[in-house]
Order: sequence, then structure tokens, then C-alpha cells
Amino acid sequence: MTARPDFRGNKQSLPSKPCQHCGRPMSWRKRWARSWDEVRYCSDRCRAEAAAQRRSAGIGGTMS
Ligand SMILES: [Zn+2]
Repeated sequence: MTARPDFRGNKQSLPSKPCQHCGRPMSWRKRWARSWDEVRYCSDRCRAEAAAQRRSAGIGGTMS
């Protein structure tokens, strides 16, 4: 039985989740209303850096 007293009276909080690249919590934005489930990075920069890291790690191998 674990009570969570600090999670009370917080009805109106918007959803949020951590950025998969920098780990910062990002809060829901209106422009993400339709794609919130698909949003993984807080910014284009994080998305680009994550993609670059992935590429340099060889995941999703490029066959040129
Ligand atoms: Zn980020």
C-alpha cells in the first residue's frame, strides 16, 4: 500500500515525457496534439543529434 500524497489535486496537468535524447521533460504542446505518441524529442536539434548518433553507431545500416 503506497500512498502518493504529492500526486493529488493535480487534475489539470498536461501530459509530459522525457526527451529520448537529452532526457529533459517535455510538456505537451498544441502542435503535438495529433502526434503526441510519436513525439520522442524535445526539439529538431535533439532529433537530428539522435539520428546522427544512430547513424554513426551503425544501427539501421546504410547500404550505399
Ligand atoms: Zn531533447
